[in-house]
Amino acid sequence: MPKRDSKTQVEIPMTRRQFVRSAGAAAAVAAAGLTPRPTAASDLPRVSEDDPMAISLNYVHDAGNADAAKRASDSYCYNCVLYAGAAEDEWAGCSVFPGKAVAGKGWCSVWAKK
Ligand code: SF4
Repeated sequence: MPKRDSKTQVEIPMTRRQFVRSAGAAAAVAAAGLTPRPTAASDLPRVSEDDPMAISLNYVHDAGNADAAKRASDSYCYNCVLYAGAAEDEWAGCSVFPGKAVAGKGWCSVWAKK
């Protein structure tokens, strides 16, 4: 916590020693793997349509590009039981693609009604 001058209440800049200590502490926390892990869909990398799993499951970012013979017209990632986001989220996680985000308007052959 920065110090304040007791008369003026002006914040006193940290000393070089304090700065070095705080930087060292931050580096130690990062090295220990204690930094927050990304959880929001916006932090997740987007799955690629070229991903082997995506190809095998016919995943597409735009459900309109899916094979119409395989896909029901009202099926999208956003209304799939495996979609981790809200219906209005453009991207969200999906347990079929751990650590990746799928498009809300996407689709794959695993789709199941929410
Ligand atoms: S399982 Fe559902 S949410 Fe995941 S990619 Fe397929 S259709 Fe989208």
